[in-house]
Amino acid sequence: MPRWQDEAACKGADVNIFFPSNRHESALACQYCKKCPVKQECLDFAVTEHLEGGVYGGLSEAERDRLRRLKARRCETCDAEYLSTSHTARYCPDCRGDYRHERAVAARRVQLRMRWEEVG
Ligand code: SF4
Ligand SMILES: [Zn+2]
Repeated sequence: MPRWQDEAACKGADVNIFFPSNRHESALACQYCKKCPVKQECLDFAVTEHLEGGVYGGLSEAERDRLRRLKARRCETCDAEYLSTSHTARYCPDCRGDYRHERAVAARRVQLRMRWEEVG
């Protein structure tokens, strides 16, 4: 048993709480994790050991899976580092917003141009 578990907020608590079957139970487990001094150690352990089911470090199995898939990427526009689960991501969230805006403006320009040609 890792030594950090001695300091766990859930030490001595009913283990079933950490294998919740509904949202209420899940919220109860997270209350323990929120105030736990070894939350990070617990989460790292669960992620690296690929622990299935249960709440560890305040995250469910699905949330831990997502965390595992997050990879550091570098934005092609501003060179900032950001995290994404997408293999095809090219821009950081800030630049993605600008990029969408520019595409919307360009599309609107094309529409107006076509409309202008129709009228003319
Ligand atoms: S983070 Fe949650 S599950 Fe992990 S040791 Fe602390 S209270 Fe227990
Ligand atoms: Zn960027």
